[in-house]
Amino acid sequence: MAEYAAPGQPGSVVSYLDRYDHFIGGEYVAPAKGDYFENPTPVTGRAFTEIARGTADDVERALDAAHGAARAWGRTSPAERANVLNRIADRMEQNLEALAVAECWENGKAVRETLNADIPLAIDHFRYFAGVIRAQEGGISQIDQDLVAYHFQEPLGVVGQIIPWNFPILMATWKLAPALAAGNCVVLKPAEQTPASIHVLLSFIADLLPPGVLNVVNGFGVEAGKPLASSSRIAKIAFTGETTTGRLIMQYASENIIPVTLELGGKSPNVFFSDVASSRDSFYDKALEGFTMFALNQGEVCTCPSRALIQSSIYDSFLADATERTKLIKQGNPLDTDTMMGAQASNDQLEKILSYFDIGRQEGAKVVTGGERADLGGDLSGGYYVQPTIFEGDNKMRIFQEEIFGPVVSVTRFDDYDDAVKTANDTLYGLGAAVWSRDGGTAYRAGRDIQAGRVWVNNYHAYPAHAAFGGYKDSGIGRENHKMMLDHYQQTKNLLVSYSQNAQ
Ligand code: NAD
Repeated sequence: MAEYAAPGQPGSVVSYLDRYDHFIGGEYVAPAKGDYFENPTPVTGRAFTEIARGTADDVERALDAAHGAARAWGRTSPAERANVLNRIADRMEQNLEALAVAECWENGKAVRETLNADIPLAIDHFRYFAGVIRAQEGGISQIDQDLVAYHFQEPLGVVGQIIPWNFPILMATWKLAPALAAGNCVVLKPAEQTPASIHVLLSFIADLLPPGVLNVVNGFGVEAGKPLASSSRIAKIAFTGETTTGRLIMQYASENIIPVTLELGGKSPNVFFSDVASSRDSFYDKALEGFTMFALNQGEVCTCPSRALIQSSIYDSFLADATERTKLIKQGNPLDTDTMMGAQASNDQLEKILSYFDIGRQEGAKVVTGGERADLGGDLSGGYYVQPTIFEGDNKMRIFQEEIFGPVVSVTRFDDYDDAVKTANDTLYGLGAAVWSRDGGTAYRAGRDIQAGRVWVNNYHAYPAHAAFGGYKDSGIGRENHKMMLDHYQQTKNLLVSYSQNAQ
C-alpha cells in the first residue's frame, strides 16, 4: 500500500496554481468579465483552486487565436504533427504520476485507476494518432486517359470541443489527438467540475504546440459551452456529455450547418448466459469480475454495465457469487493505491445517485447490497462517497431505463436467447453492452443482435485506441478512437485535372 500526499501537502507530486485563467494564444488570459468560481475536490469536499468563469467574449478571443494559427498549423506536414503528438505523449509519460494524482484529486477516482488506465490510455492515444496520420494516404482515380481525380484530406480548420468530468484527461485526449493530428486548431471547453486536470496537462505540454493551436476556455455549459457550440466561426463541434445536452448541441450546430460528433449517455446491458456457470473455473471468475465492473470509476462511465441480465437457470447462484465479489470492492481514500473505488465527482452527482436509491425502493426494487451513502470517516467524511449497490427488479423500472451514472447495477433475469436480446435492446440507449458465454455461436449472435456501438464479448471496459467507439440510438452520432475518427476532422478535397491538350 502507498498513499500519495494530497496536493498542498509536503511531498505532493502535483502543485496547483491558486487560480486558473483561460489558456488562449499560448498564454493565460484573465476572463473578460473578471469572474472566477471555486473548484472543490470530491475527496474531502474542500475547494483547492479557483477557475476563470468563461463567457462569450472569452470564446471569441479564443476563436481569434485559433483562426490566427489555423493556416500555418494546417500546412504542417503529417510528420511534423506526428512528432508533436509523440512529444506530447513522452511528456505525459515523464509526468505520469503528477497527471494521475491530479485526475484523482479533482475527479475523486482511485489513483490506481488513473496510474494504470486513464493516463496510460491517453498517452497511447497520442501515439496512435501520430502513427495514423503518417500512414494516411489520399486517392487517385483515373477518370479517362487524360482526366485524373486527386483526393486530398484537408483539415476542417478551427473546431470546438466540449468534454465531461468523468475522465477529464482521457476525454480531452480522445478529442485532441485526432483533431491536432489532422491539422485543426482547437477551442476546448472542459467540464466546470474538472477543469484543473486539463490545466495540469497543459503545464506539461503547452510549449510543444504553436500558440493558438490549442486554446482552453473554462466555464459553465450555457455561459461558455453554448457560445462555442453556436459560433459560426467553428467548422465542427465535438461533444461528450448527457443526451439532453447533446440535443441542444445539435440544435446550435444546425444554425451554422456544421458537423457534430456526439458521445452521449448509456444504460449498457451485461448479459450472462447460463453456460458461464457450467464450471467454477477461471472463466467463471472472469465473468464475476465483469459483473463488478459497474463500480469501476464509481460507475461514472458512459458504458457502465448498469443493467445485468442473468439467465434464469443460474440466476440465484450467480447473483449470490457476484454479490460476494461486489462486497470485496475496497472503498477508501482515492490517493491510496489499494483503494478500488473512490468518491463521486461532485456533490450534485452524489445527490442524484442518492435520489435514485429512493426511486428504486419506491418502484419496488430490492436492494441486494449497498443503497446508502458511504461514510469513510475522518477527513473523508466531507467527501462524496456511495456504497456499490445492486438492485433487483424489472427492466421497465426507471432504475433500469435512466442513466444514474453511479456505482449502481440493476439486475434482472431472462429465460432464453430471444428474451435476453429483447431485454438488452429495450432501452433508448445503444452505447455499450457485453455478452458472456462459453459458446462462440451464442456470443457472436448476441453480439450482432444487441443494438450497441460496442459489444464486449467475454470482457468489459477495455478501450484500445484502435477499436471504434460510439453509440447507436440516443447514445450519439459518430465514432471516437480508431483511424476512422480522422474522417470527423477532415474534409475531402477533389482536384479534377485534365492533362489533355485538346479542347473539350
Ligand atoms: P453534461 O452534458 O452535463 O456536460 C458535458 C459538458 O457540456 C460540460 O462541459 C458542460 O459544461 C457542457 N454543457 C452543458 N450544457 C451545455 C450547453 N447548453 N451548451 C454547451 N455546453 C454545455 O454531461 P456531464 O454530466 O458532464 O457528463 C456525464 C454524461 O456524459 C453522461 O451522460 C455520460 O454517459 C456521458 N459520457 C459519454 C461518453 C461517451 O463516450 N459516449 C463518455 C463519457 C461521458
